[in-house]
Amino acid sequence: MLTVNKLEEVIEELRNLKIMLDDISGFMPDRHFIIDESGIILSHFGNEQPDLFFNIGNMKQRSIFEFSTIEAIGNDLRNAVNKCFSENKMVTLEYSLQLEDFQLLAPGVIGPENRQWFEVKIRPMHSLLNQKRTVVTSTRNITERKLMEQKLHEMAMTDPLTTLYNRRHIMHELERSFERFKRYGTNISVLMLDIDHFKQFNDTYGHGVGDLVLVELAKYLKKAIRKLDVAGRLGGEEFLIIMPDSSVGQIKEVAERLIKGMGELKVSTSEGELSFTVSGGLSEIMKEDLCVDNLLKRADQALYFSKENGRNQVNISK
Ligand code: GH3
Ligand code: MG
Ligand code: MG
Repeated sequence: MLTVNKLEEVIEELRNLKIMLDDISGFMPDRHFIIDESGIILSHFGNEQPDLFFNIGNMKQRSIFEFSTIEAIGNDLRNAVNKCFSENKMVTLEYSLQLEDFQLLAPGVIGPENRQWFEVKIRPMHSLLNQKRTVVTSTRNITERKLMEQKLHEMAMTDPLTTLYNRRHIMHELERSFERFKRYGTNISVLMLDIDHFKQFNDTYGHGVGDLVLVELAKYLKKAIRKLDVAGRLGGEEFLIIMPDSSVGQIKEVAERLIKGMGELKVSTSEGELSFTVSGGLSEIMKEDLCVDNLLKRADQALYFSKENGRNQVNISK
């Protein structure tokens, strides 16, 4: 038999345990919700920091789906919760919100287009609560991580000097265009560019001035190419422009305009206003091409011809 004294002791112990658990859960980076199969919140604990989009008041007995007022997220969350219940394993869901989506967006880091990212993990609970099967959801604001990942991703595909795509990425884009060509027959043309007598330019004005030319040339290309075209730095003073969905006949004029435009650029440098010229080679994908190598080889041959033929011009591969 439990004496009244003993009972009071146990209650006191339970009360202390609850205070301790509340203290510990307050330090958790995530906000946790225990919900039943219809999404009703039976309990919530964890992160009291307001870096989640929802205002943490007393949310018990309300549906978690109420707080996902955007239909797409509400549906995704519902599906994820159902999956967790039916497969009895953890499900992770990532989503992003924009300022317009919610009047109350979390304070802290906000990404481009007023966007914030969140991650919710949903795990099955092993014990029943009020005789009901439940899952626990943990939500955290992952905006900072997302922005960092995006930055790393951009850095991995960008040439630091010109901020054009680097060789690896432009080749990746070309492979993707080739896949589309094989699957749908979408044409590809490429324009290979190489600055004329650049070694001599560097020798005369210095490497730093040469770098300025590369930067200005890249700026011009970014502005001058068509929306669908993709430009990258193959390396050194060589560039590649992928022109999807076009034949060389159609883009010869475009290429000539680019060569002329670059030749007319005036670069302000410590050595005064300088100009330079560029040669180009155009080639088009052929049915017999098994990969992009031959396409590039033909563009290179056309470029070689432009160099041999006096530079500052573009030619189509034979
Ligand atoms: P051509 O008209 O036949 O193309 O002659 P070229 O001198 O341009 O060709 P070459 O291949 O002999 O020399 C390329 C030069 O490009 C050599 C190098 O000094 C320069 N170069 C390559 N990368 C860079 C760079 O990042 N910065 C600068 N400033 N120069 C570079
Ligand atoms: Mg070269
Ligand atoms: Mg050159």
